[in-house]
Amino acid sequence: MSVRVRFAPSPTGHLHVGGARTALFNWLLARQAGGTLILRIEDTDRERSADSMTRGIIEALEWMGLDWDEGPIRQSERLDRHRAVADALLETGHAYRCFCSPEELARRRRAGSGTTGEWTYDRRCLSLSVDAVAARMASGRPAAIRFRVPEGAVGFEDAVFGQIRKRGEELEDFVLVRSTGEPTYLLGVVADDLDMAVSHVVRGADHISNTPKQLLLYRALGRTPPVFAHVPLILGPDRTRLSKRHGAAAVLAYRDAGILPEALVNFLALLGWSDGTDREIFDRASLIDAFSLGGVSRSNAVFDGDKLSWFNGRYIHSLPAAELAVRVAPVMRGAGVWEDRFEAADRGWLEQLLATIRPRFRSLDALAAEVGTYAGEDIDYEQAAVEKFFNDPSLAEYLPALAERLENIERFDLESTESALRTLAGELGTRAGLLINASRVALTGKSVAPGIFDVMVILGREKTVRRLRASIARISLS
Ligand code: GLU
Repeated sequence: MSVRVRFAPSPTGHLHVGGARTALFNWLLARQAGGTLILRIEDTDRERSADSMTRGIIEALEWMGLDWDEGPIRQSERLDRHRAVADALLETGHAYRCFCSPEELARRRRAGSGTTGEWTYDRRCLSLSVDAVAARMASGRPAAIRFRVPEGAVGFEDAVFGQIRKRGEELEDFVLVRSTGEPTYLLGVVADDLDMAVSHVVRGADHISNTPKQLLLYRALGRTPPVFAHVPLILGPDRTRLSKRHGAAAVLAYRDAGILPEALVNFLALLGWSDGTDREIFDRASLIDAFSLGGVSRSNAVFDGDKLSWFNGRYIHSLPAAELAVRVAPVMRGAGVWEDRFEAADRGWLEQLLATIRPRFRSLDALAAEVGTYAGEDIDYEQAAVEKFFNDPSLAEYLPALAERLENIERFDLESTESALRTLAGELGTRAGLLINASRVALTGKSVAPGIFDVMVILGREKTVRRLRASIARISLS
């Protein structure tokens, strides 16, 4: 059986963590099997759907690198097809017209729900004679089309949750087409999944309760249903439904906050799936290899924003520096630290700088801001760093001496800068650590930075010397 899966978002909001994970799991199944991923936009709720949301969803999928093979297909363009399926069900007696108005239904619900608060459609219109139906139709009364739920059990083997059964008696005769002529989600999704020859329906566990009804439609249409796989819900650390409160954001907001798509993909894959080991780092190719519906857990997944940052750090540290430069460039532009020289002449320097400073960073934003410390002329001195490492008056003598040594050494590389500093410390009868700590503040303004000789080399001789000399003013102030 060829694998044909679909991602079917409703464009009523941004693409969030849950939807993005559903998209990812479908994508992984398709890519692993050499199958097909269909993007279907379920935009039948006219009032709540927006084109801008559809564009945003597409942009988010593209940014995550989740490509699709067919679509985007807009469900709203297939309404006639959905109605035709409802008509076929009317003809075979699996569905019937219902003339009960929403007001009448509300009244009967109020009267009938009693103490339990539950009421299911009382099938009043099922007993209408053929003539009575024809007369109401002729008088132009609006009619919905309801599915006639048969007695007996309906069950399926969910690829994640296992056996799920429901009795027909527990289900109401659900609406297929509203009296306004609008097909419902239940009808549209089955008609579309059939027409698109979908082999596996992978979606959020919030759709489990819809599945028995959808299965009844397949049965009534005499068609074989796809495999269903429901993926567990994602909760916040406090076990309530995931929301902004938990730091969860829309996919594009993560992009804008300096998260790498590789990190988001890796993070999302592990929200509810594992390969059975403790392994956490999966690049795209290894996810495609390792993913299986059997590894998807039944228990709710818990979202942990710190873990996402951790993944982001891992990918910031492991991307080839040239690739990291490509990714960080737009963020640098946004932060106002981009310079034209990084386009070509100083591209290599930028890459080397990124490779030097990245170990401490978990977000592209912070990394981009740090570039400014090295690339710009002026630096901001952190007050705490100045107080801690610039409080020895002899530095007013030591730092100019260091500047002079560095100005005159033959080569300006890791070994010679280190040996110049250590030799000078010996000659001055002071600790190398004093010069190293003070140089760090003088060259970066901070108390934490990469190895000081890496910093010198990346800044280059001229800037190193200049910053050492300029920093002396800080000593007398402290
Ligand atoms: N459009 C539905 C949603 O966004 C998905 C329906 C489905 O996958 O069957 O929740």
